[in-house]
Amino acid sequence: MKNKVFKTLTASLAVMFLLTGCGGNKKADTKESTKKSSESSTEVTTGASEKGYTDPKDMKDEYDIIIVGAGGAGMSAAIEAKNDGKNPVIFEKMPVAGGNTLKSSSGMNASETKFQKEQGIEDSNDKFYEETLKGGHGTNDKELLRYYVDNSASAIDWLDSMGIKLNNLTITGGMSEKRTHRPEDGSAVGGYLVDGLTRNVFEKEIPLFVNADVTEITEKDGAVSGVKVKVEGKEKEIKSKAVVVTTGGYGANPEMLEAGRPDLKGYVTTNSEGSTGDGIKMIEKLGGQTVDMDQIQIHPTVQQDNGILIGEAVRGEGGILVSQEGKRFVNEMDTRDNVSAAENKLKEKSAYLVFDSGVKERVKAIEFYEKQGFVTKADSVEALAKELKIDDKALTETVDTWNKAVANKKDAAFNRETGMDNALDGKEYYAIKIAPGIHYTMGGVKINSNTEVLDKDGKAIPGLFAAGEVTGGLHGENRIGGNSVGDIIVFGRQSGKQSAAFVK
Ligand SMILES: Cc1cc2nc3c(=O)[nH]c(=O)nc-3n(C[C@H](O)[C@H](O)[C@H](O)COP(=O)(O)OP(=O)(O)OC[C@H]3O[C@@H](n4cnc5c(N)ncnc54)[C@H](O)[C@@H]3O)c2cc1C
Repeated sequence: MKNKVFKTLTASLAVMFLLTGCGGNKKADTKESTKKSSESSTEVTTGASEKGYTDPKDMKDEYDIIIVGAGGAGMSAAIEAKNDGKNPVIFEKMPVAGGNTLKSSSGMNASETKFQKEQGIEDSNDKFYEETLKGGHGTNDKELLRYYVDNSASAIDWLDSMGIKLNNLTITGGMSEKRTHRPEDGSAVGGYLVDGLTRNVFEKEIPLFVNADVTEITEKDGAVSGVKVKVEGKEKEIKSKAVVVTTGGYGANPEMLEAGRPDLKGYVTTNSEGSTGDGIKMIEKLGGQTVDMDQIQIHPTVQQDNGILIGEAVRGEGGILVSQEGKRFVNEMDTRDNVSAAENKLKEKSAYLVFDSGVKERVKAIEFYEKQGFVTKADSVEALAKELKIDDKALTETVDTWNKAVANKKDAAFNRETGMDNALDGKEYYAIKIAPGIHYTMGGVKINSNTEVLDKDGKAIPGLFAAGEVTGGLHGENRIGGNSVGDIIVFGRQSGKQSAAFVK
């Protein structure tokens, strides 16, 4: 490797950073808590920090393409730009790469994939399109959505070609087919994906600078000319003909959140500390258009003490939601907005996610939740009810009725139709107390399917590209679980290719 490797971060430091950097998280201030967390999945990384980042001393004054933000979109962009013969650089403001991508848990949606075909799942891009449009209440940007679904299968192949195999399929709320792709062992997608992408970034010798905070995108004669970046306390101006903005959303920026949705004040967030909307603000200064800035997704299953998300796969693999009265109150596989609204209607404004040892085996992330101390465990439904101070007869009746619904493939109470492959009849029963939390920002900068950023007249700003959660429109008013990891790979790749074509 030509670049000098900057080896100050260890894996355990990265883990510690992630735990403390998760909006509202308690500090992981003991060696023990760090060690325990590093053993599991959703909130951790391994390879990225072990391999190291580029030494700030090796920063050049000019690159072909500057990529701002080292999440999934940014690293996909960098790899494709490099594949097309260009010299990209990635600037990441946090001490580790990964952003919200590192936290993603349930998986990546894609249709007509080779893994679906291998497993006999009949799916179509049109069905994926229609269900996503329905989930977004018909408000999705149709040009972006069409490009997204049509390129989702090739995104899965592209990852596979780089040693990132997502061949274990599950389902998320609002979808009718198993199209949520996750790692073979059913573990959380984020750590695995970020490890794989950073490994490829390093192998391709793409410079990746961390603690490199981009503060401004510069322009000259109406075209983008580079960025200003703060490194080691000094601001530098770096030139490039194209800038790709992949800075993620604003789920950890209370001012931006409250500007769009004042009613969400005080909600816990699942987002990483770097999700502060910087890219949106910088692009707005260049005259870029924004869309859907008031569309903020709250996720129905968030642990409230530290903002850790309990992945949708727990419900997708058979978990149910029950109130303090021991009763189900919603179709758990309905879209996130509807499930969250149903929880907010409960007296307690919180509920229990109840599952059994079978679900635990199928969703590896549960081991992580257990190690964090979120999970109540019991040998029977009655014993679980007692632990939760729920009426044991009510909970037993709920679980029995649910298991009959699974057997008959008919949920008369709430018309749930998915996540019903297995009854809740394992040796042990578990519950996690959850409530809604801020999760995803659907709004962002407006792009076309070439990932060019559009100004207020709908014209492309020369040399300016964006991909991932920083953009708005694809998901409309409600994002379907699994569609963001799909988004960042599909449009991250596209922004790398289009920016490479732009600089020629
Ligand atoms: C807990 C959790 C679980 C999730 N699970 C799923 C899931 O299972 N499936 C799914 O589809 N989606 C999921 N999502 C959503 C999904 O993970 C994100 O929307 C997606 O990963 C965003 O990717 P990105 O590359 O656009 O941004 P990010 O991954 O957030 O990366 C953006 C990066 O840019 C950096 N940055 C920001 N500003 C600057 C700046 N000024 N200068 C330099 N760098 C900057 C940030 O620090 C960050 O590292 C989940 C989200 C969370 C929070």
